[in-house]
Amino acid sequence: MAGEPQADCLFCKIVAKEIPATIVQETESTLAFRDINPQAPTHVLVIPKVHFPDAASLAAGDPEAAAEVLRAAGEVAEGEGVESYRIVFNTGAGAGQTVFHAHAHVLAGRGLEWPPG
Ligand code: 5GP
Ligand code: ZN
Repeated sequence: MAGEPQADCLFCKIVAKEIPATIVQETESTLAFRDINPQAPTHVLVIPKVHFPDAASLAAGDPEAAAEVLRAAGEVAEGEGVESYRIVFNTGAGAGQTVFHAHAHVLAGRGLEWPPG
């Protein structure tokens, strides 16, 4: 069922604390932790605790959780002390999505090119 934990999902396992992560912030509905392969000095993943495969399906299925992810992303950036940052939701393998549990990348701390690659 949409929103339920998935046994084979890496990020559901991180939410369940079955796999360790460097947690930056935890709220009732979100978890923020450092990316294991950082692409910038600040690279934090913000995820909803509920499982949806991508950002759009999260927004459709649980709009409150989607809003909480965005709010948490802003708080993480503030906590990191960065003024400028980028929030990225890769959607689909062709766009670089490798983990199919919705997540925001919060990237900052270096020059961020626009348009991105
Ligand atoms: P995607 O490519 O799906 O947009 O982002 C998935 C991200 O998860 C990648 O940036 C990858 O480095 C990160 N990642 C993959 N496995 C782990 C893990 O076990 N722990 C953490 N903290 N990050 C992970
Ligand atoms: Zn999941």
